Amino acid sequence: RHLPFIPGVGTPAWLGVMGGGQLGRMFVHAAQAMGYKVAVLETTPDCPAGHAADQLVTGGYGEREALDELASRCVAVTTEFENVPADSMAYLAERTFVAPASGCVSIAQDRVLEKRFFVECAPGSSVMPAPHKVIASIDDIAAIPDDLLPGILKTARMGYDGKGQVRVRTREEVQAAFDAMKGVTCLLEKMLPLAYEVSVLTARGLDGESVVYPIAENVHRDGILFTTTVPGPNVSDDCARRAQDAARAMIAQLGYVGVLCIEFFVLQDGSLVVNEMAPRPHNSGHYTIDACVTSQFAQQVRAMARLPLGDVRQHSPAVMLNILGDVWFEDGSDTAREPAWEQVLAIPGANLHLYGKVEARRGRKMGHLTFVAPTLADAQDSLRQACAILG
Ligand code: ADP
Ligand code: MG
Repeated sequence: RHLPFIPGVGTPAWLGVMGGGQLGRMFVHAAQAMGYKVAVLETTPDCPAGHAADQLVTGGYGEREALDELASRCVAVTTEFENVPADSMAYLAERTFVAPASGCVSIAQDRVLEKRFFVECAPGSSVMPAPHKVIASIDDIAAIPDDLLPGILKTARMGYDGKGQVRVRTREEVQAAFDAMKGVTCLLEKMLPLAYEVSVLTARGLDGESVVYPIAENVHRDGILFTTTVPGPNVSDDCARRAQDAARAMIAQLGYVGVLCIEFFVLQDGSLVVNEMAPRPHNSGHYTIDACVTSQFAQQVRAMARLPLGDVRQHSPAVMLNILGDVWFEDGSDTAREPAWEQVLAIPGANLHLYGKVEARRGRKMGHLTFVAPTLADAQDSLRQACAILG
């Protein structure tokens, strides 16, 4: 019924991706490895995915001409960032095959819709999001129930890596934070006692078949993912099963096609809370490139090309370390210098992935390292060595 888009020899099929960041770049690599040509749409020509793509379409994410060019060239289009205009995904979908659908992207890019979806899903998924309240006006602040504080005020849209979030203890602080966000719709979430954080990467095909990757344990620093460890040292089998079952229920409920990552909190009492989801491959899924049979990017290719999904089996314990621009700078120095990669690459099980960004900046994701090893302890030991070298 739904024919797959096979790569083809001689006249390869083209796949398209909205966004030119590192996730787009790794998608390009995976798609090209399978014989596809790839077009990337991005506003600026100098971007990580653009350097790798077969064609870069330079234009705004909502620009008709650029979207037309992408749609006319590509048999299928996906996205590498959740803040792609949902309208553009809908526009593309009238012209070519698009996965994930704009409706799913709309939910994932708006914390209000996302929380509503999680609540609706709860009968099937057995997990709830954090207690929360939409804050769209001063009246909403007066009506905040006492037990939502202390909390975190998050902008409903455009937040990432801890940006667009303020921790608040009182209604006055909510008011000040809401004013500072210039009155955009926000969500107040109760501050929960986290024991640790996990994420579940899942993928679903147009035929309704889905796969769920091993659960990943994530450590953040300053709101940015620092490490991902799989298997997670804190994660019990029971916790893994509950999170994976929830992910399976959610992706089915969405009727989603593509790769979806769902973040959860595990609270100190062991209960599971669903936090947010990303309608694309995720930083916490980078370990799949080196440690699983099918990487999250190869899976994204398969789902959008309507091919059978790949095996999600993990063949080695793995630890992923994000490489931020900070490691290019010595303390207090403003002059960038190259980190000692030759030392890093001498560490057992090291796989270096750099994103080809033109300039290192503090706090900017420049690449990642994945350490794979016969045992988790070995992979963790490699991580410690890398941290010692990179500082
Ligand atoms: P982002 O889009 O920036 O990833 P998140 O909602 O995931 O936003 O929040 C970033 C981090 O802030 C989380 O990974 C978690 O460490 C912390 N955090 C977010 N919400 C809560 C909460 N309700 N209680 C405790 N910590 C939270
Ligand atoms: Mg998050």
